[in-house]
Order: sequence, then structure tokens, then C-alpha cells
Amino acid sequence: MLIRCMGLSRPRTPWRVLQEVKAALTPAAWAYLNRALREGSPRPPSTPGLPDLSIGPLPHRSQQTRHPFTASQLHELQPISFHIAPQKYLYTLTLHLLHAHTVVSRPDTKWRDLLPPLEGEQPWWASLYSTLVPRPVGDINWRLLHGAVSTGVFLTRFTPIPDTCPFCNVRETLAHVYLECARLQPLFWLLTNILLRFWLHFSLHLFIYTLPIRGPTKSRDLLVNLLLALAKTAIYKTREGRLANEASCDCRAVF
Ligand SMILES: [Zn+2]
Repeated sequence: MLIRCMGLSRPRTPWRVLQEVKAALTPAAWAYLNRALREGSPRPPSTPGLPDLSIGPLPHRSQQTRHPFTASQLHELQPISFHIAPQKYLYTLTLHLLHAHTVVSRPDTKWRDLLPPLEGEQPWWASLYSTLVPRPVGDINWRLLHGAVSTGVFLTRFTPIPDTCPFCNVRETLAHVYLECARLQPLFWLLTNILLRFWLHFSLHLFIYTLPIRGPTKSRDLLVNLLLALAKTAIYKTREGRLANEASCDCRAVF
């Protein structure tokens, strides 16, 4: 029967395999086999299976003040069975637990103070990446929404770079670089014209927080988010170019 299961017509091959296995057995293995053949096959000890373990964050007990719009996701994670926990769940849990004390008291984005969201508005993190947006562009926009991009005000604390805008010499804050600098006006006019073709009104809120992607207007939303992402990337790159004394520093032309 074993020979049929192995798809073999003659017993010669399994016989030779069996001889080689027997030749390789140690005396202790022979003794075990002989005892098993004499006394019957030993049964495995009846041990219970693994206990049903749950994994999840402990209730928040820190005295640290929790920001209402914290970037921490611990409050969203419900305990689930460890056996079926998806890889992404375990990664998020580990990451947010390791940085819990740093993250919990901070807002998810600095723009909440610089450009307070209107009613019903929020940063649409998921809109930053899509099949249309190249990964490096998405990464720059993700950092920008976090406020994690270089500015003169920040850099001057560590480097001899002045804290002023390389285009207009005004103090270079995050809001100045991406919203207020006079050099951005031609780019914003262009975006206003383009978005009107989609029956959308360009605003600084839309520029920073992007559009939520909704089913009925999905194609338009994806395209508009791509344009906004490329515009912010053009601002980012032309600023870097200016600091490196490169020729093309017109963000509208680069966009
Ligand atoms: Zn400026």
C-alpha cells in the first residue's frame, strides 16, 4: 500500500531506502523501536493545547495629559486573540507602545494649531498615498502633514543657516514656507484655476488637509490629491534647490 501511495510499481526503491534508514539508526533508536514493536506504539502524553492568549494594550494609566488628537493609536486597538493577530496589528501595537509616552501628549499634526481644521474637517492621512502618487512624493507630504520638514526657524537652532526665508527674508516658519510666502501666489492661482475645472474651491485648508476619497467621486479625488501632493513637493524641492543655489527655484514652473 505504501508503495502505491508513493506512486511506485516495484518495491525495490523503498526497500533500499528502508535498508539505509536501518543502517543509520543508533543503538538507542534500535532499542526504542524494538520496545515499541514488542509493547505497542507509545502514546503521546495527553497535554492540552496552547491556552487562548489575548494581546492588546493595557488601559491608559499614565498621568501624562493625553492630547485630544493624539497620533497614538493605542486607544483604537482592541485586544484580539494572539493566534490570529495580523502582522500589521502586532507592528502597530509594538510601535505605539514603545513610543507611547512621546506620542500620547502630542497632536497628530502641527497644522491643528497653525491652521485649525474647520467643522467636519480633519487631516486625511489615507489620502496621502494612492496608486497615482509616487512613493517619494507621498513621503514628503506625509512628513509635511506631521510638520516634520525643515524650516529656517528650526534649522537655525543647529546650523549656521539664518532663520529667514531664502526667497523673501521673512522669518521662515512652517506656515510661511507652505502657505504665506509671496512666491507661492502664482502656484496657488494655478491650482485655483485647475480645481475650478473639477468644481472645487481651492483653499489653504484643502491644500494641507487634502480631500477625503469618497466612492462616487473617487477618480476626481485621487487626481486632485495627486495635484496637491505634487504642488507641495514642488514647494519643498524648490526651497531645497534655493538653499543649494540651484537654478530652477520657481515652484509653479517645477509643478
Ligand atoms: Zn518667503
